[in-house]
Amino acid sequence: MRTALVYHEEMTAARLLWDDPECEIERPERLTAAVERLQQGGLEQRCLQLAAREASEAELGLVHSPEYVSLLRGTQALSTEELQALSGQYDAVYFHPSTFHCARLAAGAALQLVDAVLTGTAHNGFALVRPPGHHSQRAAANGFCVFNNVAIAARYAQKQHGVRRCVGAAVGWGLRRTESGGVGCSETPCGALLCRGGLLAPRWEAQPLSGLCTPYPRILIVDWDVHHGQGIQYIFEDDPSVLYFSWHRYEHGRFWPYLRESDADAVGLGPGRGFTVNLPWNQVGMGNADYMAAFLHVLLPVAFEFDPELVLISAGFDSAIGDPEGQMQATPECFAHLTQLLQVLAGGRVCAVLEGGYHLESLSQSVCMVVKALLGDPAPPLLGPMVPRHSALESIQSVRAAQAPHWTSLWQQERRPSAVSPGEPKCKAAEAQTSAVLSSLLDQLHLYATPPVRTVIALTAPAAALVLPPDVLHQEGSAPREETQAWARLHEALTQDTAFTALGKVLHLLNGILDGQVSSGIATTPAAAPTLEVVLRQGLSHGAQRVFCVALGQLDRPPDLANDGRILWLNIRGKEAAALSTFHVSVPLSGTTGGFLSCILALVLPLAYGFQPDLVLVALGPAHGLQDPQAALLAALLRGPAGGRVLVLVEQECTCQLVGVLARVLHGEPPPSLGPFSMASPDDLQALAHLRGQLGAQWEMLQLLLECRELVA
Ligand SMILES: [Zn+2]
Repeated sequence: MRTALVYHEEMTAARLLWDDPECEIERPERLTAAVERLQQGGLEQRCLQLAAREASEAELGLVHSPEYVSLLRGTQALSTEELQALSGQYDAVYFHPSTFHCARLAAGAALQLVDAVLTGTAHNGFALVRPPGHHSQRAAANGFCVFNNVAIAARYAQKQHGVRRCVGAAVGWGLRRTESGGVGCSETPCGALLCRGGLLAPRWEAQPLSGLCTPYPRILIVDWDVHHGQGIQYIFEDDPSVLYFSWHRYEHGRFWPYLRESDADAVGLGPGRGFTVNLPWNQVGMGNADYMAAFLHVLLPVAFEFDPELVLISAGFDSAIGDPEGQMQATPECFAHLTQLLQVLAGGRVCAVLEGGYHLESLSQSVCMVVKALLGDPAPPLLGPMVPRHSALESIQSVRAAQAPHWTSLWQQERRPSAVSPGEPKCKAAEAQTSAVLSSLLDQLHLYATPPVRTVIALTAPAAALVLPPDVLHQEGSAPREETQAWARLHEALTQDTAFTALGKVLHLLNGILDGQVSSGIATTPAAAPTLEVVLRQGLSHGAQRVFCVALGQLDRPPDLANDGRILWLNIRGKEAAALSTFHVSVPLSGTTGGFLSCILALVLPLAYGFQPDLVLVALGPAHGLQDPQAALLAALLRGPAGGRVLVLVEQECTCQLVGVLARVLHGEPPPSLGPFSMASPDDLQALAHLRGQLGAQWEMLQLLLECRELVA
């Protein structure tokens, strides 16, 4: 993966020139600490390094009024007293003679990053900037923010790189440049206007296309800073082409910026209704489980349905552990997981732009984690208990309820968990446990070593047609013959020639993963069921503590495997939805995009993250029924829960193309698009509601509160 890193040291020039306790935390060291940490970790050198340019005044004018830009231009010549007086006219803002230059560099860096990603110079990237931008408004500075870097970048991407994506089955998908990028014509070449909310489409170049063309470039902005980016919300609140998601410390309106419109029921205006998604946190202390639950149960369902062509992250890290502003508990590696989850959208075109973050150690470690994820490195496993807080579940439920009229992916046939816990006793236990491990979390991070080899494929026969990234290794070796023979005795089928050879290769690959030499791999076998059983047994005897096994197709759980909680077995393509035990779950494979996504986001990932496995096995058995993009998405998302330790076992009848696409996603590339979104069937929703009811008490990451009032009462 090619990752751009945009920076300019002149952005450290602006600093506070008078006493102001509120503003003193926004200091130049925020950038220098992050850059130093990127250098020490060898990450800066792995990126395509770009020196930020200044945004032009015309580019600033995409979002800001000419009078405001002119006012800022004038600050360069003001005395300290005059700067202080002007600063006092805004909420939590300070100006410096170099503010105008720094702020133009910050906006320009975001534009350069968008250029690099949308022209294909880079796959994704990070713009390390200050001042931040998300509070800034059309004609007002606010909350340390001068120009709204991310909002300008979104408008610029639409204007400069008007892209559209054809999702017709006949042509796959590709990017086409628009003629003008402007708004004002409803003509689409294929005649299929999918415009939600009646926005007029840009004029397209005439292209012989079939299928469905969406008429404007859709941009998702994910604002994970701990403050509400009200500036971004105001700019796009009536615009359905930009979906703005923000979570923020809110405390029922008692936290800055104290706005009624930061609450969950602010969903956008006019044609933009449903395209503003606010998730207010009403307590401090939100941690990894809460953030992951918010992504799995709110952001990702909506994002997949929206189907963006570009993802911009308002990447503030005051939402990370240790930050004095946020007082949250999410650890730096959580941001690697959040990034990884976003990389399955928009063909992986993800641009992160720094916003807040005031604890230098937490900030710089979190920045490193995001850059590592962008580079395709596996995310370190999440530490600490994966139990969302009751207050987090209430917030998640309130935003789901507010957004359900606008997004079919949030519709569900809700059912109260059969043995639901009210949450508080568990949350209290979780809190105590969390604070006990907090102090050591930051120290532990560097102990997680990335294996030297990221992806290996172990095939029984050479596959000339296989196209792979150059550094994916073809494994030649096998486990020692005696070891293979010992395991092959378990099943007659494994003593056959090809199956025996395959078993030796699978064991060798598995041992490489468990020994920390290899992160992930794919192996083929003509006998998936008995090989999978051997892999499970060998995994546990070779030191794995917990194995998450997703079996697809005709693969039954081996009957004499101990049900001691060390294996969580999930069969997709089960005949019916059933939780045979806490650790044995079966779910049918949905025929719709929405149903498949709901299964992954609402069931598979919550189970996987809740289980906290140290190895993930994905087995594609006979008649698994998955299309290649579905298999790729599943594998890509399952890189998260076990720190990238994934072994995919493929029945040999599967195609070369499938092995190729799996190898690429395990290597960190984005999965191909699933195609047009179609909503989940009532049967799919019923199946998920049934399983959630059966399992929600044991697996808290599955939980959604249904009637919060009832539970609180
Ligand atoms: Zn912030």
